[in-house]
Amino acid sequence: MSVAQDWLDSARERVRVFAQYDGPFEEQADVVVVGSGPCGAVAAYELAAAGKDVVLVEEGPPFTVRDFELDGNLSMTRTMREGGLRMTRGTRMPTMQAIALGGGSLVNSAICVRPPDSVFERWATRFDLERTDRASLDPHFDAISEFLGIAPTPDEVQGPRNLLFRDACRALGLSSEPIARNVRGCRGSGECFTGCRSRAKQSMDVSYVPAALRAGARVMTSLQVQEIRHSGRRATGVSGQVVAPFAHGAAAGAGRRGLSHRFRIDARAVVLAAGCTATPVLLERSGNLANASGQVGENLQFHPGVAIAGVFPEPTDPQFGATQGYQSLAFLDEGFKLETLWAPPPILSIRLPGQGAELVARFGEIPRMAVWDAIASANRSLGRVRARRGSLDPVLDWRLHPDDVTILRRALRVIAELFFAAGAEKILPGVAGLPEVMTDLAQTRRLESDEVRAEGLVMGGNHVFCTTRMHGDPTLGVVDEDGRCHDLDNLYIADTGIFPQCPSVNPMLTGMALARRQARVLADRL
Ligand SMILES: Cc1cc2nc3c(=O)[nH]c(=O)nc-3n(C[C@H](O)[C@H](O)[C@H](O)COP(=O)(O)OP(=O)(O)OC[C@H]3O[C@@H](n4cnc5c(N)ncnc54)[C@H](O)[C@@H]3O)c2cc1C
Ligand code: SF4
Repeated sequence: MSVAQDWLDSARERVRVFAQYDGPFEEQADVVVVGSGPCGAVAAYELAAAGKDVVLVEEGPPFTVRDFELDGNLSMTRTMREGGLRMTRGTRMPTMQAIALGGGSLVNSAICVRPPDSVFERWATRFDLERTDRASLDPHFDAISEFLGIAPTPDEVQGPRNLLFRDACRALGLSSEPIARNVRGCRGSGECFTGCRSRAKQSMDVSYVPAALRAGARVMTSLQVQEIRHSGRRATGVSGQVVAPFAHGAAAGAGRRGLSHRFRIDARAVVLAAGCTATPVLLERSGNLANASGQVGENLQFHPGVAIAGVFPEPTDPQFGATQGYQSLAFLDEGFKLETLWAPPPILSIRLPGQGAELVARFGEIPRMAVWDAIASANRSLGRVRARRGSLDPVLDWRLHPDDVTILRRALRVIAELFFAAGAEKILPGVAGLPEVMTDLAQTRRLESDEVRAEGLVMGGNHVFCTTRMHGDPTLGVVDEDGRCHDLDNLYIADTGIFPQCPSVNPMLTGMALARRQARVLADRL
């Protein structure tokens, strides 16, 4: 057993789990951090490393390699809220939020990208933020990158389906680069979505959470925070209930089964990092807290993503290769980012056209397939989060703006052109109302036409932001530049909900950098 594995096992033993709660309990701390995703884990570590007494509270359980399910559908029922079947209303789009020690980092593709200067310039001027520029965040990006071993994906673990994308970009004269990821010793198994069984992915449960423990933090899983306790302008702590692991699937009655003992944690400061769809619900359920601006739960934004599958004449060996190994930022100014993508076949099959024998024949093509996607900066497509009656699950209203449909049409056309440039024999565009299969370049024009309608797009939206946005003006935002709620002196928010606008690139690294900055400020104030 390696030293690293030894350490992980001992860290795991120090994480409090469901079976260890045998009655109601109370704790005290300097700071209670709610949520152990990328933002909460970084905040907990930084605060503990600064000598503060920290309790990190997480509703989900810790996962060991034995707990991972390779079958994509089964995996979702264990790792995702509502079994991975959460949907927006208005424009229908699936969106996934994890419930696990490590939050989204356990199931995500480990993509770490710093937004370009232009994103922060826009944030600064439109949202009254003077200190949130790229130069002042760079030291935080650097520290996190070093801690997590963030580096470009090497060619040896790219696999053909990622390298074909590189070649296609070269053929069309577009810039592209290997994706930088928080991994150490990636074997290119393409299984990031169902959990990294070789533990190469530096998800929070194997990186920042053990570091927080090492620095003295207490980590408690299977605790569902239900209320932020407060008095006047001060948060006094949180309270809630112990929940059984895996009681949250779609069939579990919106997470209401498996509830047991109550708990209360009193603290001098509270950091909410429950995620962009959960934090506003917690605030609403706590007496519409921190909402003098009326902005809690408003401004919901996604990176709606579209994808096309291409079938090549030769095998692509798609089960091998980094889940998402290559990207192109060439169209960032036009509003979209291009990436390679892989998912477990049961998940892919949802998107494959045909039924019966035709569908079976499509499965036979999977060994010659690649999937490439685009995520769009859909700044005009807005929505809101509200609490679902009798539950902590959110109702997500969101509508895709016609101008953002135009961005997605353009992205689809570019992806299609890339496939034919790489030598694909056909593509499966997955757009309702258009041919299920396209076999030549001339047909791809239709992807950029008004035949493509919002309701015909098969989208996914796993990057979520802005529901408790940062704004220099207290009447227009929920938190200030340090993540502190304008309305309370010691309540902080540290998840991607504080982004004032979508960051144009994958959000995890930006969320962590902002969390690191604010945790250091908070540590100085305590
Ligand atoms: C399949 C998938 C792939 C992705 N790939 C990438 C990628 O490669 N790169 C990237 O940048 N982004 C990616 N993302 C998005 C990224 O994972 C999220 O933006 C990121 O995890 C957000 O971090 P967070 O800390 O704000 O919230 P989360 O990661 O959502 O963490 C919030 C945590 O709070 C816990 N929590 C919620 N409510 C409560 C409560 N009431 N009590 C106690 N605990 C609670 C949750 O269980 C969760 O663990 C992906 C997302 C998904 C779903
Ligand atoms: S591609 Fe495989 S080995 Fe690499 S980080 Fe993802 S799950 Fe782990």
